[in-house]
Amino acid sequence: METMAKVSVQELAKEFEVPSNRLLQVLTELGVPADAAKSGIDQETADTLREMATDLGDELRTIVLPPQITVRELAQTLERTPTEVQKVLMGEGHLFTLTQKLEKELAELVVSEFGLTARWQEPQAQAVVAPKAKKALKTAGMQPRPPVVTILGHVDHGKTSLLDYIRKTKVTEREFGGITQHIGAYQVETDGKLITFLDTPGHAAFTAMRARGAQVTDIAVLVVAADDGVMPQTIEAINHAKNAGVVLMVAINKIDKPEANVEKVRQMLTEYELVPEDWGGKTIMVPVSAITGEGVDKLLEMILLVAEVEDYQADPSAPVEGTVIEAKLDKGRGPLATVLIQQGTLKRSDIINVGNTMGKVRAMLDHKGNQLDKAGPATPVEIIGLQNVPLAGDRLTVASGESMARQIAQERQNAEREEKFKHQQKKKLKLEDVYRHLESDQFKELAVIIKGDVWGSVEAIRDAVMNIEPPENIDILVVHAGVGNVNESDVQLASVANAVILAFNVKVEPKAEAIAKSDGIDVRSYKIIYELLNDIEKALRGLLEPEYEEVYCGTAEIRAVFKLSRGITVAGSYVLDGKIYRGYNARLIREGEVVYDGKVASLRHIKEDVREIAAGYECGINLDDFTAYKVGDKIECYQVRQKELD
Ligand code: GDP
Repeated sequence: METMAKVSVQELAKEFEVPSNRLLQVLTELGVPADAAKSGIDQETADTLREMATDLGDELRTIVLPPQITVRELAQTLERTPTEVQKVLMGEGHLFTLTQKLEKELAELVVSEFGLTARWQEPQAQAVVAPKAKKALKTAGMQPRPPVVTILGHVDHGKTSLLDYIRKTKVTEREFGGITQHIGAYQVETDGKLITFLDTPGHAAFTAMRARGAQVTDIAVLVVAADDGVMPQTIEAINHAKNAGVVLMVAINKIDKPEANVEKVRQMLTEYELVPEDWGGKTIMVPVSAITGEGVDKLLEMILLVAEVEDYQADPSAPVEGTVIEAKLDKGRGPLATVLIQQGTLKRSDIINVGNTMGKVRAMLDHKGNQLDKAGPATPVEIIGLQNVPLAGDRLTVASGESMARQIAQERQNAEREEKFKHQQKKKLKLEDVYRHLESDQFKELAVIIKGDVWGSVEAIRDAVMNIEPPENIDILVVHAGVGNVNESDVQLASVANAVILAFNVKVEPKAEAIAKSDGIDVRSYKIIYELLNDIEKALRGLLEPEYEEVYCGTAEIRAVFKLSRGITVAGSYVLDGKIYRGYNARLIREGEVVYDGKVASLRHIKEDVREIAAGYECGINLDDFTAYKVGDKIECYQVRQKELD
């Protein structure tokens, strides 16, 4: 067969005077896969493109840019060296470092300097913050899918044993020396129907994922040991499951033990609104033994029954959506991620984005170690071929090609950075903000978590809190009440439920404190119940006003005024004492009078942007919205911060 000579994308891009990546994108849009195009384009296609070049010209010459772009990224997109881009900027009177972000206007100017036009992409913050659990819209392709089950419960009540028993007895091992491997999830077949179990027991994993916005579980099986009954983590698990809105079933375990008392457990559970069906309630409760296996079949049957009633569905032909269950770095195989596919069908060789990393599905294994070519909804698979190790809770999507995947990964990294920055600035619900939020209709309820040293006081506080008469249309919701120190799990629950934690006579564990700090969760410690209740009442009625204080930072004197191009004026200054900080408040004082009060918009030291500058140094200061500087003016920098409440 005669092989036709091929034209490389690079050559063609040169001919059209456009970046080759843009040409690749346009080719993908025209139906030529990027992978195929990379090995060259046949003459016929090339000729068609040439004919279309005039029509395509505009499209080819339009570069799509993410909302935030640095000099280096822009250079990459334009397929120019960073120096070339910097030169253009210098021509306009700007000195930029490679990692500095460009204002839209400037980026557009650079792009046009290279004969191209810029189009701005919509910010895609949702690329990182996954959508909240939602019932998928029913489309024509919808089909029933297996339920996804998580096992929760108090330590030592038998979660691991139950998961092991089900796996050992219900998963058929591979025939030739295959070993079931732990990949974080497995599927069992019973009565010809599949059930997917997430096999990292415990609500820590469950809540950690939810805290990242991912919800993969349909049914939570709460394991309660019949010889021990309801314990602190049983209550935590109930509250976590309720908060997540998943179906909660109970497995009363260890019934083989002589001291087992199933009735007592059922009785204890009614206190948490879990009432068995034969007592007129709605909660399915199955007595089981993870050791003898008694009742396990019945439990699986009940799970399938719930699945039938709830009618879980997914569309195997929809665009692929998945969530990382767990991930690790393997010495031999590189980054490994177990992903639960939720919509669509993932195929081998697909180019994927996972969280802010990307890769190609080089191999896909199920929990039995079988190689799969494709995986549909509710299937857990281990994926080999990612560039980096993602996090549990990260979303998986399929990209149309490598350049697209790279672009999405970049966007997600940018969005994540932004999100982190915003997160640091944004405060979660604080008690003193409650009234304002309630007033502005943002919160119709005040959610609280109560932790205390003994059950008696926890109960007393819970009852008293619930007896507070809130202003009209406002609910007080006790998300969780328990005995013991404030732990990680409490803080995670507070984060997902947007709750305030009230700690009575207990400590905050260091790890919990660290998370609370970084997530901005309000944890309040009390020693007197009256004070605790008083604070809530005051908060509800808007009396707990935050107090602010001003902190002096430093003063600079203006020694020269520079007018730059584009109407920018800079005050060449000398720092007399303290420090000047970019972004902080500042006053301009002229002959003892305050003539300006605003912010330090930018701060430069020898042409470099700096965050702060100390006494004894010269710097260029640019105040927000101000240009009328005069030599001899003083700039006083200060910070306004909320007074710590004690
Ligand atoms: P987890 O902390 O909830 O995962 O609990 P494990 O599965 O590790 O079980 C704790 C202990 O209880 C182990 O010694 C198990 O062997 C035992 N155990 C678990 N289930 C049963 C059961 O049904 N019957 C009896 N007799 N012991 C059990």
